[in-house]
Amino acid sequence: MSSDPVSFPPTVTASFKIKLGDHCLEARIDVPAGLVPQRFLLPIVQRLADTVVDAAIQEEQKDGRNVSCRAGCGACCRQLVPMSETEAYHIRDLVEAMPVPRRSEIRARFDAARQRLASSGLLERLVNCRSSDGADPRRLGIDYFRLGIPCPFLEAESCSIYPDRPVACREYLVTSPAEFCARPGVDPIRMIALPVKIWTALAALDPRADGTAAPRWVPLILAITWADAHSEPLPRPGPEILREFFQKLTGKPLPAPPTQSGGG
Ligand code: SF4
Repeated sequence: MSSDPVSFPPTVTASFKIKLGDHCLEARIDVPAGLVPQRFLLPIVQRLADTVVDAAIQEEQKDGRNVSCRAGCGACCRQLVPMSETEAYHIRDLVEAMPVPRRSEIRARFDAARQRLASSGLLERLVNCRSSDGADPRRLGIDYFRLGIPCPFLEAESCSIYPDRPVACREYLVTSPAEFCARPGVDPIRMIALPVKIWTALAALDPRADGTAAPRWVPLILAITWADAHSEPLPRPGPEILREFFQKLTGKPLPAPPTQSGGG
């Protein structure tokens, strides 16, 4: 048994209170104080997304609408799922950390999907239309869905990485009949109304080499090959990343730094 003391990375506690539509979110969160990759703050963003989605569900219920998404309904998991570059690195690392043979099984599903995309001619369109200022994303989404490619993490019509699922998956909840999601572009799909889109704020956080402001996105189905082909941005101070994220989320500059030191 080791007598070495357990060391935790130093943190600062950030207090925030933001108004999102009719909702006011107030919390204190511990943020790594030192230089970290952006993906280290992903758990914070995921919790925030869950909180915003929960509040949105309550608002829908007040208006008599209930979420129709159920475990075992994986219709939306054959749609084109967008994610931030930060999440693409996380997904790649998540798969890399899986034990064998699961890791090779999941990788094989990604490879099979890529081959299917290539043979249909959609791969090139997906690779070249990553920017939100690119081609019609709705058309691309419908063409993608027609291929019927299940997400590599979909098992028995349920998400096998539920706690780690992308923010866009967390935000995609509908109050229209669940079967409508199996016919995108045909029946009107009614998504819950969110006061903010967390995944786009996260995508906007990723630095663009060309200096423009439009957020970029990576299709989940290409996440691993994309992350393998692109170096991760240099680490930055955790509070700076969080501050910038909230600026992207609220569209407002934030005057005050994190308020209090803490942690180990
Ligand atoms: S990550 Fe999970 S929730 Fe998202 S598309 Fe894949 S299986 Fe569905």
